Amino acid sequence: MPAVLTDFDDTAAAQNVAELLLHEFAHPSWTEVRERFRAGELTLKDYQEEAFLLVQADKDSMQSYVRAHANFRPHFAELSAFCQAHVIPICIISQGLDFYIQALLDGCGQSDMPVYAVTTEFDRNGRISRYRYDFAYPDAPHLGNSKALIVRRFQEQGHHVFFMGDGRSDFEAGEVADTVFAHRQMAAMCDEAGIEFSTFTDFAPVLEALKGYMGALESA
Ligand SMILES: [Mg+2]
Repeated sequence: MPAVLTDFDDTAAAQNVAELLLHEFAHPSWTEVRERFRAGELTLKDYQEEAFLLVQADKDSMQSYVRAHANFRPHFAELSAFCQAHVIPICIISQGLDFYIQALLDGCGQSDMPVYAVTTEFDRNGRISRYRYDFAYPDAPHLGNSKALIVRRFQEQGHHVFFMGDGRSDFEAGEVADTVFAHRQMAAMCDEAGIEFSTFTDFAPVLEALKGYMGALESA
């Protein structure tokens, strides 16, 4: 049975929702933190935690902003409905923060979709008080969650994993997934490493590939 695992920012979501929030709610110096990340001086985990420290907004304001300004790429809802009808697991796998992912899922009628992301805790003022990484390699907690670890868990349960992503942190999942859809930086990295992938700008080709896979299963 297949499983569909997709990255969130710039993949399932048409926007980088983390940056959307930082642009709107963080002190402008967050872009300096991003520069240090881009220069390789910070891990993604440290960049994200440092940048969100600069946010002056509570959880409710950020979640309403996401619902008003973000959206899924076309055909994501159709893909989700097809998966549900065929009892195929479909999940979000992200290095991003759970509360903004859940806000978009809730806003688009996809509340029940499982999310593997960074777990945030909030204080009584609605400010982020703690980050939890439940999907990190035990010997590399400083790297945060690992997408390859999650892909492998699905494979160990017998799933053929379809994975979609766009960024540097998606590449390790692309190395182990069975069918890979990549765009932007991840596509360049797959190209360079000789990993077979299809490109995408929306979820129509993913749905087609999944239907083809199911058709082949049924006729086998
Ligand atoms: Mg992404």
